[in-house]
Amino acid sequence: MGKNEVSTLFSSDPDKYYRVSLFDRLGFKRNKCISCRKFFWSLVDKNTCPDHEAYNFIGNPPTNKRLDYIGAWKETEKYFQSQGHSITRRYPVVCRWRDDLYYTIASIVDFQRIMNNKVIFELPSNPLVVPQICLRFNDVENVGVSGRHYTSFCMIGQTCNADAPGGYWKDKCIDLDFGLLTNVLGIKPEEITFVEDIWIGAGAFGSSLEYFVRGLELGNAVFTEFEGDENNYRIMKNKIIDMGAGLERFSWITMGTPTSYDCTFGSIIKYLENSIGIQKDESFLSNYFKFVSRKFNIIEDDSSDKIIKLKKSIAHEMGVTFEHLEKIVSPYEAIYTIADHTRTLLFAISDGSLPSNVGGGYNLRILLRRVLSIIERFKWNIKIEDLIDTHVGYLKNMFPELEENKNEIYTILNLESERYVSTRQRMNDIASTIRKNGKQLNVDDLIRLYESDGITPDFLKEVNVITEIPSNFYVKLSELHNINQKPLYTPTIEGLEGLSPTRLLYYEDPSIREFDAQVLKIKGNYIILDQTSFYPRGGGQEPDKGLIGDARVQEVIKQGDIVLHKVENLSSLSERIMIKCKLDDARRESITKHHTATHILNSSARNTLGSWIWQNSAFKDVNYGRLDITHHSGLNKEEVERIEKTANEIVMKNLGVNIKEYERGESEQKFSFRIYQGGVVPSNKVRIVNISNFDIEACGGTHVNRTGDIGLIKILKSERIQDGVVRLEFVAGQAAINHIKNQDRNVSFISQSLGSSKEKLTDSFKKHLDESEKLRTKIKILLRKTSPILAKSISHNSTQITPEGVKLYTIFDNELDEEFHIVVGEKSITLDPFLIYISLIPKGEGIRVIVFVGEAARKYGINAGKIAKIFSVNLGGAGGGDFKFGQGGGKFKNKIDEVLNYSEMYVKDTIKR
Ligand SMILES: [Zn+2]
Ligand SMILES: [Zn+2]
Repeated sequence: MGKNEVSTLFSSDPDKYYRVSLFDRLGFKRNKCISCRKFFWSLVDKNTCPDHEAYNFIGNPPTNKRLDYIGAWKETEKYFQSQGHSITRRYPVVCRWRDDLYYTIASIVDFQRIMNNKVIFELPSNPLVVPQICLRFNDVENVGVSGRHYTSFCMIGQTCNADAPGGYWKDKCIDLDFGLLTNVLGIKPEEITFVEDIWIGAGAFGSSLEYFVRGLELGNAVFTEFEGDENNYRIMKNKIIDMGAGLERFSWITMGTPTSYDCTFGSIIKYLENSIGIQKDESFLSNYFKFVSRKFNIIEDDSSDKIIKLKKSIAHEMGVTFEHLEKIVSPYEAIYTIADHTRTLLFAISDGSLPSNVGGGYNLRILLRRVLSIIERFKWNIKIEDLIDTHVGYLKNMFPELEENKNEIYTILNLESERYVSTRQRMNDIASTIRKNGKQLNVDDLIRLYESDGITPDFLKEVNVITEIPSNFYVKLSELHNINQKPLYTPTIEGLEGLSPTRLLYYEDPSIREFDAQVLKIKGNYIILDQTSFYPRGGGQEPDKGLIGDARVQEVIKQGDIVLHKVENLSSLSERIMIKCKLDDARRESITKHHTATHILNSSARNTLGSWIWQNSAFKDVNYGRLDITHHSGLNKEEVERIEKTANEIVMKNLGVNIKEYERGESEQKFSFRIYQGGVVPSNKVRIVNISNFDIEACGGTHVNRTGDIGLIKILKSERIQDGVVRLEFVAGQAAINHIKNQDRNVSFISQSLGSSKEKLTDSFKKHLDESEKLRTKIKILLRKTSPILAKSISHNSTQITPEGVKLYTIFDNELDEEFHIVVGEKSITLDPFLIYISLIPKGEGIRVIVFVGEAARKYGINAGKIAKIFSVNLGGAGGGDFKFGQGGGKFKNKIDEVLNYSEMYVKDTIKR
């Protein structure tokens, strides 16, 4: 049974699936659309469903109330509160609690958690309403154009568990929504149409009623009551009401503005009109967008000039020229797009996402580049900062948290804008090459250009390389990026069924190093005990090692509830015996310190650099630790020092590390989604590691009791490992002390060699540097003075190898360097144009090859580059150059004699070729 079959099944029994008490009470009648055969319910007789209706509320709203965006929310909030609903604060737009999504795409996602590949619902209260900002990037090219598409919008999520206290089902849900439309928005009942539909998603499905007013869908009440797929399903124990309505539309239906953007973005449209100096022709735009609403969905056209065709036909119907229409409409499309994109950037960056080329971050970079391109194309004088400021000023009435991160958002957007400007020259060069070639670019070409060079189609449109952006560009691009890859290390050991879960001593008492346990099962090289203190590999933490009896533990993994110990030698072990177990104490201590240090460094980095810092991944081993953080640029020395300083201050404060288990929902509400630094926790109990409120994370690893136990944290290195991610490598505890001891030893060695004390090391080092610089200068002068004499003796000592008089001089020099041979070689061939000068010089682990060929010798086809190549190849490397000068090298020092013996032959070989 597919979607159509489910739909047919539900519609064949409307009394069971769709008839709600409101319909009977008020006399709603069920009709079938003559055009698309959908069923719908209305008070007035109609033969087509609202899908075929134009938006004739534009310029003529069906209510006397006028609610702007925030106003519409305030009224909705008040209404649902009075009807016994809790109002839940919005969740972040960056979906930290689901591995399969980057961004929150619907209000119901807030309450979905995935456990054992199954979606479960967790509601913080029942019933509730949440104003959830959702991000969707699959309609980017329609934003600003259609009058109703957004990259971010507010979904009012009316949600309840029908079978839990406070819950309700279809009748009450539709009563409430009908009350909202009529009492709150002031819409007459006969204006409202309910359309029968179904919803299938994430392992569950059910019927739904969409409600429309004058062709505009205002909300969709989904009744999720079956779990499984369409072929094999059962009724859920906890049925879910999931009504989602776009706040942007609530406002629009009451205001009747030309587009929904006009009543959604507060004063920003006015602000943009003023800075650009244009004035809205309200009636023209109303008329135009009414046409758009009727035609936008009907055109089944994927060609890139779809929008142009649409506009031409509307211009025709409106009795104006296409040029005239475009002159009025296109600046507004640009304004709307800028308003939408900057608002999305505001929410996303505020919630911790960074523009980049990887993961979900690519969407943000492309939005910002679109905005910058548009501003450039129209040559408008608009500052992004002012736009963000205006958005925040309006939205803070609903989302006060946006104000907190304002400065950090400016930082990120300015940095990204600068990056864009600095790559424009290169982008221009590439664009002019494309224009010269005259090649028609298809979608794949455009995607390649974006992926490899960051060139957006908007830019290409701006510089007239393409006329239109293909409508499927953004869809294709987001498909490429939407797969959230997280490789998991999960070897599966079969045959563990029936074993009871391993008792985890490392959680009960992390200080246990020796314990007795019973061997429950031996599977290959893996031992399963009834209880264990061996910490298994997980969350970037390396496993414990030690002994089970006499058997050395090499690896520990966890599979489901069972801990498996891989050992070297099983001979002393058998099933059912009791056995003594002992952990490698120093190893556990060191790993634990490195682990706790990652928590401290992560928060230190956030406090030092900015709120966008999240843990990207981490690795904790016995000798060192590694923390990858999300950051827009590489770190300079001062930043690294500041992070290290903050971290060591926390160590020295000796703060308590408290570990406590919470219900998942409770921990999320209490500590926010910041707890998910190490990724999603796949259980309904969450272990919260709280370093005295300095750092709070959900974490299953091993930690010290107090930060002072770590002793010391030393950052060894920072490196930008990919766009948007910086790696910190560090040592902590004994490993940090060892590191410093080593450095001290090196310093002692150097100071002794310089004949100085450690205290005066820098002074005497500087003195030595000066002296050696003087010596180098002297040597250069000496070389210049003696090189003519050397050259003469080289010419004299060379061997004639051709009848024409070409001579060869080969030397292996253990004493003087490359620089010397370059000077002398060049001098020699100037003095003797028949000379070939070849020197082999040891350098590091290998050998360098330097070749010069004099002018006369070159005339006989002798090529220095070819000679360098053949010598280098025979030394196990590579080389090349031109006729006069060649260089290269190899790594086989033991081949030097052989190469020297055959040098004449090698040279002659190059002449033959
Ligand atoms: Zn229809
Ligand atoms: Zn931890």
